Amino acid sequence: MADHCAVTIPLRRIDRIRLYINTARKSLAAIRAETGADYLLNGTLYDMVSFLPVCHLKADGEVFCRPAYSVAGYAWDRGADLSMVTLPDEARQNYIACTPLIVGGRRVEKLTYDPGQGGKRGRSAMGIKDGRLALYCTRDGGTMARTPEQLRDDLLAAGWESAIMLDGGGSSQCDFAGQQVESGRAVHDLILVYLKKEGNTVSETKTVVLDAGHDASNLANRSPDGTYYEHEFCLDMAKRMSAHLRRCGVTVVETRPDGTAVSLAERCAMANAIQDLDLFVSLHSNAAGGSGWSSARGWSAYLYGPGGEREQAAQAILARVREAGTAVRSAPIVYDPSLYVLKHTAAPAVLIEHAFHTNEADVENLKSDVWRAAMAEAQARGIADYLGVAWVSETPQEPAADEELEQAVDALAAAGVIDSPDRWKALEYTDKSVRALLIKMAAKLA
Ligand SMILES: [Zn+2]
Repeated sequence: MADHCAVTIPLRRIDRIRLYINTARKSLAAIRAETGADYLLNGTLYDMVSFLPVCHLKADGEVFCRPAYSVAGYAWDRGADLSMVTLPDEARQNYIACTPLIVGGRRVEKLTYDPGQGGKRGRSAMGIKDGRLALYCTRDGGTMARTPEQLRDDLLAAGWESAIMLDGGGSSQCDFAGQQVESGRAVHDLILVYLKKEGNTVSETKTVVLDAGHDASNLANRSPDGTYYEHEFCLDMAKRMSAHLRRCGVTVVETRPDGTAVSLAERCAMANAIQDLDLFVSLHSNAAGGSGWSSARGWSAYLYGPGGEREQAAQAILARVREAGTAVRSAPIVYDPSLYVLKHTAAPAVLIEHAFHTNEADVENLKSDVWRAAMAEAQARGIADYLGVAWVSETPQEPAADEELEQAVDALAAAGVIDSPDRWKALEYTDKSVRALLIKMAAKLA
């Protein structure tokens, strides 16, 4: 029996994270046998007399506990979209809270917990580390028993970006793919993680969805002077980026390969139907102010929330965009949980606002073929960096070797008619050199 178990799981390998409500008071081993989950960990704090949870808890759309206060916790729909948010979160299907330990990379100075949870006890925690789901459990009464403050400091030292403490003491128990911390207690709820089943043969091919924002019927998103339409730019950018990514061996699915209208729900359904989708990128241009020109300008990327693989993807793209020298907003990464395609895609999702079509300097860029080409390459390079895919350069078409010409040049060089055969083979001759050649050859015949 282990004293201490800790694992991190890449979000993209997760098929589902489920909150198991254990009203039948089964043991963890029985739940494992029943569900076939790969990782199991005890959940949030509950009242041992009433057997009801006392912290925010929602499972499969059903709210089991909704106290009057707001607190940082984890929310998700299917699992790979897990993120730390302020709870309650009406939009997500599942959430869990208990005691926040690390929020946004920062330690929570004064921890809030029930006096009964204090002292050196067994501890359970979940969080995000290196953009992965992190799970942690120590046995009550074991050598790794910790106070909540020590647990927080241990996890921070281990590089966790965010963390919450779950129910601890005698409730602490886990089975992380065979690594176990055992307890005789049947707890109210458990966190169950299921990996994607073809996990042993995870495809090496990376898949990206490119979502060209809007459709041809959208004529409202345009520059004030009517010389630029967002829908046209987005489609063109998707085509340019997909050419780069396909050349690098990435599978690209476009949500809107032509001008046809596709609803936001359909775009997300398309992405969510792809097993092992690595990244969803939505392409747009920004707008500010009313119907006239505005001063706001520059590139930015929108994410559902901070951290995780989406943040890594956005940072990788941003680094290449900066390298390309385009104008970037002072806060280029924006967190906005209200954007539909960011909220409803299971894969890491990034929405790019390339520039403001309401800014005169930006709109000149948006319309420029040279700027579009540079941005398409920069962003595709950023995506390749994130995916770990080697960049394949565009190779200019080499003219096929002209063997007939080469043989003729070699024969003339051997006969002493020409003296720089390499230049003739490379077609580096002028009217003058051809004239000289003709005169020399006629002299040979004489
Ligand atoms: Zn847009």
